[in-house]
Amino acid sequence: MKGFAMLKIGATGWVEKDIPSCGPMDAICKPLALAPCTSDIHTVWAGAIGDRKDMILGHEAVGEVVEVGALVKDFKPGDKVLVSAITPDWNSLEAQGGYPMHSGGMLSGWKFSNFKDGVFAEYFHVNDADGNLAHLPEGMDLGAAAMLADMVPTGFHGAELADISFGDNVAVIGVGPVGLMSVAACAIRGAAEIFAVGSRKNCTDLAREFGATDIINYREGDIVEQILDKTHGKGVDKIVVAGGDNNTFAQAMQILKPGGIIGNVNYLGEGEFVPIPRVEWGCGMGHKQIRGGLMPGGRLRSEKLARLITTNRIHPEKLITHTFHGLENVEPALMLMKDKPRDLIKPLVLIDK
Ligand code: NDP
Ligand code: ZN
Repeated sequence: MKGFAMLKIGATGWVEKDIPSCGPMDAICKPLALAPCTSDIHTVWAGAIGDRKDMILGHEAVGEVVEVGALVKDFKPGDKVLVSAITPDWNSLEAQGGYPMHSGGMLSGWKFSNFKDGVFAEYFHVNDADGNLAHLPEGMDLGAAAMLADMVPTGFHGAELADISFGDNVAVIGVGPVGLMSVAACAIRGAAEIFAVGSRKNCTDLAREFGATDIINYREGDIVEQILDKTHGKGVDKIVVAGGDNNTFAQAMQILKPGGIIGNVNYLGEGEFVPIPRVEWGCGMGHKQIRGGLMPGGRLRSEKLARLITTNRIHPEKLITHTFHGLENVEPALMLMKDKPRDLIKPLVLIDK
């Protein structure tokens, strides 16, 4: 089979590999829809997780099952499935301890395009199929379904990490596709004010549609000044970080109230340390928490978040600004994600030919 791979840090290309083999609890799927992710860009061009040789990229897919192992109960060949980007080993001790995304070691629930070949291929392998696949709901738009692999669960995890609750005033720093889903999640969880930080107009327009009450343009001035100004110098209760760089935490600390929480889902691709300002952190005593997390993954989460789409509570298909057709077009779609033209939010590749 062919797949689009990271050849080494800074280089991508097409590779030929054997079709993966199916263990007793596994499934082999072919893709129906694929999406490249900013994380693929960090992985290849920033070398953020170290070198990988000829590793097929991609972790966002909707699939069709072509083979299942003897112990798989709920899926069979021909089933159309949601595939979570994070596919934990559900029997692991880490999963039993409540951290499935770290099953087998830190970040090891993230297998596609990290520890094994990803989904940008004619076929891909899914471990623990009963725990990591979900049936594609009847009639669900493939674009919305593809956003259930990573954008929706990760954006929502930002709101979970920050523990957004009724009446909170919140800053969502970064409103690319992940941050936009965080805005939607904060609104659903009852945030009162949502300050969305970004600069691309289509993103900030969608942020407003998803529930942002104010837009803060980080290119037009310091976000600390802008947010303190809008909150009468008090700052915000909670912050979701879904963009920016290592210095974003320093800014976030300056606008967070004592007792507040920063929920980070941004993938910090470069640098050795994240600076935290001592005084603004209450000299270590400000009760300002930083929680950073990989999204949990798994079937139950996919099914529950899918319900938010089938009941019209969220519209992740609105993230898709560019649609391609055919597996060969994962390459230009990924390059679009790398170049980030200002009209891009998220590309989608439909495998319909
Ligand atoms: P995008 O690059 O599309 O969006 C980033 C956002 O951050 C944009 O709104 C951008 O603004 C904004 N931004 C950039 N620089 C700054 C800055 N200095 N200060 C404030 N805002 C800034 O990324 P995605 O939405 O695709 O992904 C967001 C992050 O989430 C990535 O790091 C990705 O790797 C990570 N991720 C994490 C996962 C997890 O499980 N934890 C899973 C999937 C992704 P502008 O409008 O100017 O572009
Ligand atoms: Zn992703």
